[in-house]
Amino acid sequence: TEATATAHDARTPAEMSNARDLFSKFDALIAEREALLATGVRDPFAIVMDEVKSPTLAIIKGKETILLGTYNYMGMTFDPDVVAAGKRALDEFGSGTTGSRVLNGTYQGHKEVEEALKDFYGTSGAMVFSTGYQANLGMISTLAGKGDYVILDADSHASIYDGCFLGDAEIVRFRHNSVEDLDKRLGRLPADAQKLVVLEGVYSMLGDVAPLPDMIAAVRKHPNCMILVDEAHGMGFFGANGRGVYEEQGVEKDVDFVVGTFSKSVGTVGGFCVSNHPKFEVLRLVCRPYVFTASLPPSVVATAATSIRKLMLAGEKRAHLWKNSQRLHQGLTDLGFTLGTKEPQSAIIAVILTDQTQAVAMWQALLELGLYVNMARPPATPAGTFLLRCSLCAEHSDEQVEQIIGIFAAAGRTVGVIR
Ligand code: PMP
Repeated sequence: TEATATAHDARTPAEMSNARDLFSKFDALIAEREALLATGVRDPFAIVMDEVKSPTLAIIKGKETILLGTYNYMGMTFDPDVVAAGKRALDEFGSGTTGSRVLNGTYQGHKEVEEALKDFYGTSGAMVFSTGYQANLGMISTLAGKGDYVILDADSHASIYDGCFLGDAEIVRFRHNSVEDLDKRLGRLPADAQKLVVLEGVYSMLGDVAPLPDMIAAVRKHPNCMILVDEAHGMGFFGANGRGVYEEQGVEKDVDFVVGTFSKSVGTVGGFCVSNHPKFEVLRLVCRPYVFTASLPPSVVATAATSIRKLMLAGEKRAHLWKNSQRLHQGLTDLGFTLGTKEPQSAIIAVILTDQTQAVAMWQALLELGLYVNMARPPATPAGTFLLRCSLCAEHSDEQVEQIIGIFAAAGRTVGVIR
């Protein structure tokens, strides 16, 4: 209103900047960013894709740029069948549902994508959320409440941590991918307490994979444990049917819940959980991040259903993506870069740098040569590391992978990361 505008205008922006208020806790971050941008580098967190030509090519500031920092692992975003399904649903069902899944927001498209998920995973239950973030938030907070325990890997995704806070369960962290520490910490918990163990198939910062059979064997030694695996970065790529790392490692029968997302291999937006638990459907009534938000637009669920059904038959794409990952890992190792894993374990290859200045300089040099990668920094990264995260796509051609290695060589020498 005019009155509040006047009240706020009473102070100048400079006075507001200097005042202590709820923003004061961000002062150190603001100062750090201002100092970095004052050196003349581009802001790694403010890139705009002016045009996207394919899963692997975009125009950024007028320059054709190879995309090596998307989660478009299977390159489904421009699949003609996927795009056509979205257009059809937009025409037939409109732009949005304007309602919750439990009220007016369940269309036949939402049921169809849940059927596609059940077929893809071979489970009796599937529940679709508006994002993968909300799927973790909803599943963890609804399953594990006050008095229950969530046992999680220290490097877990933010949505897993946030799910614990929302549910008010006790959080017990174990050392990243340590079977021994997981076993030890479970052993200290009351035997009669209910416990949810949360694991990820692929850890997205370093691109390393969890040793699921050993971890599950450790969990089975302790009573009252259920297991949830987040396959956000494994879906589409791992396992004969593309279900994820838990399929590839042969532990499908031991996992109670699989959480995933449509925002990576599926190529759109949305999240889900699949399970064989006979009481799974009750979650639709009690899971707050499912109930108290609008459902996905009809065009989104139509593209997701089409994409998921095509991913079941994408064995050739999976094979090509593995080849790309192995070639890039070898190429960067030969050039002398320090990588997140000794062997390629997933479609993510992390290049570790010494500090923020070097990471930003390298990131910018790559961009100027026509290559986009993601920069990641603490607190998202483990052990305070700065890294450039390369995520490959099944649609990167052999020539593009060679081009990428060439760009890394040139940028690495200019910045002084390699000799
Ligand atoms: N889990 C993991 C491991 C993730 O990396 C992400 C997203 N980066 C999510 C969940 C959330 O997925 P969404 O983008 O669908 O919210």
